[in-house]
Amino acid sequence: MHMRKRILVTGGAGFLGSHLCERLLNEGHDVICADNFFTGSKDNIRHLLDNPYFELMRHDVTFPLFVEVDEIYNLACPASPIHYQHDPVQTTKTSVHGAINVLGLAKRVGAKVFQASTSEVYGDPEIHPQPEEYRGNVNPIGPRACYDEGKRCAETLFFDYHRQHGVNIRVARIFNTYGPRMHPNDGRVVSNFIMQALRNEPITIYGDGSQTRSFCYCSDLIDGFVRLMAADNAVTGPINLGNPGEFTIKQLAEMVIELTNSKSTLTFEDLPVDDPLQRKPIIDKAQKHLEWEPKIKLEDGLKKTIAFFEKMV
Ligand code: NAD
Ligand code: UDP
Ligand code: UDP
Repeated sequence: MHMRKRILVTGGAGFLGSHLCERLLNEGHDVICADNFFTGSKDNIRHLLDNPYFELMRHDVTFPLFVEVDEIYNLACPASPIHYQHDPVQTTKTSVHGAINVLGLAKRVGAKVFQASTSEVYGDPEIHPQPEEYRGNVNPIGPRACYDEGKRCAETLFFDYHRQHGVNIRVARIFNTYGPRMHPNDGRVVSNFIMQALRNEPITIYGDGSQTRSFCYCSDLIDGFVRLMAADNAVTGPINLGNPGEFTIKQLAEMVIELTNSKSTLTFEDLPVDDPLQRKPIIDKAQKHLEWEPKIKLEDGLKKTIAFFEKMV
């Protein structure tokens, strides 16, 4: 028999959160979306507002929240460097106080709670590709630290609430993910390159473009979230979720130019401080415990993403 659950999604009006809300509603659950709209937008969830099983709350996760739910997905946190560096203290508070509040809530109501952690916990990795056992190489006082250390501390809190209070936790370390509803101006590489290519403007490569990233399409990632939440209670994570296909930033630029038939040329700018040089997940754990692996190839995912951004240009 289908069990209708009541599920809280923090950051549900953001890029990933909106896809998750949609997926959970489609599975027949009640969804409460809590978001302060810092980087998210009502546009991302406008199509869900008429659904009687969807509830939208303007709420900042650094403050306590009292709702009665069966599951919590904690996604609230700006994810792109320009947004999380805009107010670094608030970024750390969002990760740390936000984690304390969702964990306190989970403890009180006995809910299962999922944390959207990040490959940034590995910092600029000295081990390649990255397994979950790798402890990372993060600069604790650099410009990325508010995000990286905030997310690391959130993981600490999740595991301490689990050990100390028996809270049922799921921690996913998410690698670069892209797709429709990414913020067009948030400075992330996929959205920047597509917008620049569609406008026939120069494509801004930071550094020489030899740094690598592994890009996962959003629907693949959301499938991983749902599988992790449904997995056996022993599967707490942390578990890497990402697409192991690794590309240099220059390759990405060339692929975007080709797929958009753009006249854009490449320009080279300074590499930001502490920018990781390479990144690629080992996903053996997700394959084994969740029977999960990404299905959408970069080229196919880019085509879908380009179709979304074309409407904005
Ligand atoms: P996003 O910026 O689109 O979404 C974040 C959402 O959180 C937004 O709707 C924003 O308004 C909301 N938010 C921010 N601060 C808040 C606060 N204090 N209280 C309530 N809501 C708040 O980013 P996204 O790409 O959808 O990322 C979602 C989550 O996944 C984040 O936690 C991010 O760290 C994590 N993540 C994303 C990626 C990626 O590549 N997209 C990679 C690793 C981790
Ligand atoms: N909290 C919340 N919703 C709840 C229960 C708790 O937001 O339903 C918050 C609570 O305000 C506190 C935090 O979660 O700041 C941690 O709660 P916990 O019970 O672990 O700690 P304590 O209240 O003892 O500080
Ligand atoms: N990047 C780039 N040009 C841009 C935006 C980003 O070359 O216009 C690079 C950036 O320096 C980094 C990579 O692309 O090496 C991924 O950047 P993004 O901000 O998307 O994600 P993150 O660095 O958090 O992985």
